[in-house]
Amino acid sequence: MYGLALCGICRRPRVADKSFATSTCPYCNASEKTKDLIFYFESPDQDIVRQALSQATGFVPPDMVQKKRRIEEADPYSTMVYQYEHCSDLDEKLTILAEGLTRINGSFTLDDIREIVGDKAEKYVSAMLDRCIAAEVRIGVYKA
Ligand SMILES: [Zn+2]
Repeated sequence: MYGLALCGICRRPRVADKSFATSTCPYCNASEKTKDLIFYFESPDQDIVRQALSQATGFVPPDMVQKKRRIEEADPYSTMVYQYEHCSDLDEKLTILAEGLTRINGSFTLDDIREIVGDKAEKYVSAMLDRCIAAEVRIGVYKA
């Protein structure tokens, strides 16, 4: 039998397997005796309990929360490239690259741009300079 219960420590709802004597909270790692938990939904089918949980709370399993967080924090570089690729306006593309690379690396070079845009790199960098999106701080080194 599976049940939907609130963690006694962090108060988050979670699914517990009632066939075990204790159940460990996936959020705060607190281990509680299953018989002490208050169940407000029960079913022999774990999937049904999980569904009840997600409907009741907009519940996202902790491993998914972590995965999401990982993607967001992970990689400002990929995030920037993604934004660049999904942007159609040239001015905006130039700004995303110049500001993104400056934020990530402190400055950028033609090669950094080339890695993302390929052959258009020189055109992009001179357009950045023309439009005052970036400035050349040292020879060949640019900053937004
Ligand atoms: Zn907990």
